[in-house]
Amino acid sequence: MVATKDELQHFLKHHFGYATFKPGQLAVIQQLLTPKDTVAIMPTGNGKSLCYQFMGAYLKKKVLIISPLLSLMQDQVEQLRLLGFKRSIALTSALTYWERSFVINHLEEYDFIFASPEILATPQIKATIQQMEWGLLVIDEAHCISQWGPDFRPDYLQLGGLRSELQDPLTLALTATATPKVQRDIIAQLHLQGDDPVIRRPVNRKNIYLSVVRTSSQEEKKQELFALVRRLQGPGLIYFSSKKLADQMQVQLQKETNLRVATYHADLSKEDRFIIQQQFLHNKLDVICATSAFGMGINKGNIRFVIHFHMPGDMESYVQEIGRAGRDGQPSIAILLYSQGDEMIQQQLTAATVPTNNEIHFVYSLNEKTSFTGIDDDKFKVIKAFIERGFSEEATTRFFTTRFQDKEKALQVMTTYAQGTTCLRRFIDTYFAEKDAHQHDEICCNYDVTQLPLARLGLLRTKSVTPSYTIQSYNAILDKLFLNL
Ligand code: ADP
Repeated sequence: MVATKDELQHFLKHHFGYATFKPGQLAVIQQLLTPKDTVAIMPTGNGKSLCYQFMGAYLKKKVLIISPLLSLMQDQVEQLRLLGFKRSIALTSALTYWERSFVINHLEEYDFIFASPEILATPQIKATIQQMEWGLLVIDEAHCISQWGPDFRPDYLQLGGLRSELQDPLTLALTATATPKVQRDIIAQLHLQGDDPVIRRPVNRKNIYLSVVRTSSQEEKKQELFALVRRLQGPGLIYFSSKKLADQMQVQLQKETNLRVATYHADLSKEDRFIIQQQFLHNKLDVICATSAFGMGINKGNIRFVIHFHMPGDMESYVQEIGRAGRDGQPSIAILLYSQGDEMIQQQLTAATVPTNNEIHFVYSLNEKTSFTGIDDDKFKVIKAFIERGFSEEATTRFFTTRFQDKEKALQVMTTYAQGTTCLRRFIDTYFAEKDAHQHDEICCNYDVTQLPLARLGLLRTKSVTPSYTIQSYNAILDKLFLNL
């Protein structure tokens, strides 16, 4: 199908109300219309969802979207309905038995159908969707398909098979971060044919300044955090790898800074989490102390800083998390606080989530028993998922051994970034094999967050900063900074 840019833009304006496409959207849509399967790698906030929303409306054909997260699906359905696409539904385990039966019997009447991979394994649902004609199959968060990615989900492994059962419909795989290895895996697992299907936008966003602040102890780190939050212009996000610490620091930050601070993590009730999101969205909160539970599907444009009190276990997660800053394109800053030995926390987390050989053996030898104490629930479930898919014990053990080693390697990369003496932006570009790797200049990153340019860029709350530059060199730096934006 040949459509000119003007035609597509006109359609966009008319059906979605946007004057122009965001970078990358048009390329993805045009490639899909060729028709050609596409893997789209775009940073968070780039408007990935619009690509399939547009395709469904433009082709007037049904779209099946596979997504790993219930809350994401519900948000998307809500968004589509607001846009006027009322025939949208999320087929998830949250539906009651009766709701599910009703939806399945009336599935033909929906245009945008969201489903989790596990629900698609249900024979009745599988049979129904196989009989339907699909204009587009979308794999959201497609990096979950790759065992080399940090969020691997065994459920995603069946999607290649599902795609052929649906007669290989036109396919769009979406993700925010994917290394070349993960990209190759997505293409292979989904059996995408033809020449290079990848369209990517740089993961590295120039309006987010990068900085690492090294401290010599956890106590110093806390003091550094207070000082930063006092000075930086919000709203801001602070990531912790422990719920307990997030809670403690929320109390202390509130006291130290007089700002409106809340916590966000998996222990809060669904209602509380919703309220906090809404308050933050409407600028009724200044700072959120969060765990990685905060993020996916949250769409706030004016987050000015993202501070990591603990580093995540890999660069993919880090880039994803700092990508929540500055979605409005305005200057923002990402600061990683690092104290030697921080990597041990992540090592412990890995040990707690990746099953050991003994644990695998234990679950395999249990045969039909479905639950027991003594092994972590999540580990149990993940091993069961491998058994159910017919993996031998040996293959599963091999898989997790590799996974453990990969996690260690990924953590090593993250630690190098944190300890790094090199240009942070270039480090990220190189890791993700960005085509136009950033050329380091003195002020692109890693500069002292107390320096004046941040005030000029509106990133400091307090304006009373003494310039540490002569006026001349200061102006030169500012010119460069603005040029970089
Ligand atoms: P992603 O999935 O890439 O993180 P989303 O699909 O959630 O991003 O979109 C982010 C925001 O951008 C949404 O609020 C969406 O409405 C908006 N958006 C999408 N496309 C456009 C566009 N062409 N112009 C302006 N805003 C857009």
